[in-house]
Amino acid sequence: MDTKFNCPRCNQNLSVEASGAGMLVNCPNCKEQIEIPRGAVEGKEAMEGKEETMNPKLMPCPDCGHQVSKQAATCPGCGRRISFANAMFSAIFWGILAAMLVAAIIVLFFSAVYQLSTLH
Ligand SMILES: [Zn+2]
Ligand SMILES: [Zn+2]
Repeated sequence: MDTKFNCPRCNQNLSVEASGAGMLVNCPNCKEQIEIPRGAVEGKEAMEGKEETMNPKLMPCPDCGHQVSKQAATCPGCGRRISFANAMFSAIFWGILAAMLVAAIIVLFFSAVYQLSTLH
């Protein structure tokens, strides 16, 4: 995580590794030696992170905590079933689609056979 702060000399926006807090660095803008403040903007970043998890379309996976869409049937992270209704819906949907495809092939096949038998 980065710590963001303004250079006390030239007010330049700076971003450094949080692990560098308390260290002395040279400002890339004014070349003055400045101290990286400890946890200057960490609270703000934590709040931004909280907003992300509150996305109404996403929910954390109960197994691995992966952020997954509520519409998803399974978790892309661990494969856990998220919504039984969604899984059932997709199973029924693909089942009907496959049945219709098979029926269409049978109908086309028999109509072709029928046409051939009537032509000759
Ligand atoms: Zn500066
Ligand atoms: Zn998961």
